Amino acid sequence: MAETGNELTKHINQSNNPRADLHLHTTYSDGALSPEKIVQRAQSAGLTIISITDHDNVGALDEAIEAGKKLGVEIVPGVELSVTLNEKDIHLLAYFFDYKNQKLQDYLAFFRYERLKRAERIVQKLNDIHISLDMDAVLNQAGIGSVGRPHIASALLEEGLIDTYHEAFMKYIGVGAPAYEKKYQLSPNEATQLIAQAGGLTFLAHPGKYTTELELSTLIQAGVDGIEVVHPSHNEARQEFYRGVIHQYFLLECGGSDYHGGRKNDDQVLGVYTVPLQVVEDMRTRLFS
Ligand code: AMP
Ligand code: FE
Ligand code: FE
Ligand code: ZN
Repeated sequence: MAETGNELTKHINQSNNPRADLHLHTTYSDGALSPEKIVQRAQSAGLTIISITDHDNVGALDEAIEAGKKLGVEIVPGVELSVTLNEKDIHLLAYFFDYKNQKLQDYLAFFRYERLKRAERIVQKLNDIHISLDMDAVLNQAGIGSVGRPHIASALLEEGLIDTYHEAFMKYIGVGAPAYEKKYQLSPNEATQLIAQAGGLTFLAHPGKYTTELELSTLIQAGVDGIEVVHPSHNEARQEFYRGVIHQYFLLECGGSDYHGGRKNDDQVLGVYTVPLQVVEDMRTRLFS
């Protein structure tokens, strides 16, 4: 049945309703698939435009653009950044920036270095509570990608130190858990300015997961250009709510699957959480006209 559903979605997408997915992860962060594989999957799902939005990393873009040229999929340069607001970790998505911009590249390298040091602190905290995880096991999971808690969770699982992936967050590395460590603290203003100086647009990612209305208004004041409306964590009512905010503040919309390739339920999201191509056109209009 699932097969048939996917085939149908793909057919509809390709025929008269071309779609974009602007939130995808590869092995350059915590995704399981290479840029080339992601582009292939996207094409099979009937997507016409995609953005690769790895955490603190634009390393996938050259490979993805290359693959996209062969397969007829347009790749919008993207990245997912983390900022801190009221002690909370908030994700921002950025698009259409110059990904060769030196200042941006330097900052991303710095954020990745900070992620590495933080992973070491988390491993130390785990060891302190007698969970004998080795940093090498984490680095094995991360490979070439920006190191994150998902790699630590996978390493714990692989080493048989937990029974399920989610247990890692609940028992050890989630907010408030004994081995939790903060990331580098970047303010929303700093992030929007970093992206703006590289010629791009910044969006608040999946606000439904954690963002209060007060925080939403603070982020709008900090210069975000739009809000991610379509996301697996948003139901219809949420989407309508954010569309209302967008309309009120003359913001832009973005959306996508947050596909990480290989995680549970992942294969049901590709080609399903999409936006019309007009969403991408509206971004171009705001930037280039
Ligand atoms: P990091 O950027 O290293 O702090 O890792 C954040 C990522 O960890 C998020 O994007 C999620 O993919 C994952 N994550 C965070 N909290 C949880 C949780 N409670 N259960 C499962 N995954 C989580
Ligand atoms: Fe992720
Ligand atoms: Fe995110
Ligand atoms: Zn993401």
